[in-house]
Amino acid sequence: MHTADLLVVKIGGSLFSDKRLDRHLDPAAVRRYARIAAALHRAAPGRVVLVSGGGAYGHGAVRGLDPSEPFAALALTGANAELRWAWTVALREAGVAAFPVQFAAAAVLGPEGDARLSGEAVARLLAAGVLPVLSGDCLPDRSGRLHVVGSDLVPGALAALAPGATRIVMLTDVDGVMDGETVIPRLTPDGADAGLRALWEAPRWDTTGGMAGKLTAALEHSRKGAECVILHGARIGADPTFLLAPFEEWPRGVPRTVVAAQPPV
Ligand code: ATP
Repeated sequence: MHTADLLVVKIGGSLFSDKRLDRHLDPAAVRRYARIAAALHRAAPGRVVLVSGGGAYGHGAVRGLDPSEPFAALALTGANAELRWAWTVALREAGVAAFPVQFAAAAVLGPEGDARLSGEAVARLLAAGVLPVLSGDCLPDRSGRLHVVGSDLVPGALAALAPGATRIVMLTDVDGVMDGETVIPRLTPDGADAGLRALWEAPRWDTTGGMAGKLTAALEHSRKGAECVILHGARIGADPTFLLAPFEEWPRGVPRTVVAAQPPV
């Protein structure tokens, strides 16, 4: 049984890349997570989108940007195009019709600086049973200045494809938002103080704030009606299709933090 009309799977860069380096990729890890995405796509064709974390590609491209240079972030587009292509090739090898989509070609910045989908490119891919592959990108504002939109923010824009019926799974290298040794099971947009207090400082090489950036993004997405789940990628076993199911149907012993406005289904 499915719980959402759209499943956005965001694969954290730490799961397939050493973010301290530039343009580093672990091919075996990319193949593993591509197989997971492929299995989800087969179980729910036209209802799954993959969003890749930037890993060493994204973080490498935006480290040390000159804020006085309006086009400084351009290198991110080139780096993440390579990354999306690596995922597309791995997904094709896993037997899936996957198609890389540049976020800046499918979204624009709104007046508040938030990215929102523009046009029907992603919807059309889904309707045709194709698996869209996205990543963070830099988007121009009305003056042409480029703004970095990190990969954790991309799923929020995609949620407009299935308003109120989108689950965003954020796979990362921790079991969820931790408070000491404990995983915080659930946070709501109005009750996230415990989660925000529990955050520790991101390392200097991290350009998107580590869990703080992820949690802030998840809270934002949940305010718009999406259900976000943060969990460790290594917890996914041979059959990942539980990610499509209501929580009571999940295998036992899969820790996670659910960030949602509504009680989970
Ligand atoms: P991305 O692809 O966007 O970089 P990612 O999945 O690789 O995402 P990070 O951005 O590195 O993940 O965020 C996860 C990290 O956040 C953890 O490895 C941990 O070091 C850090 N962190 C800080 N505070 C917490 C907390 N309270 N609970 C869990 N992780 C935390």
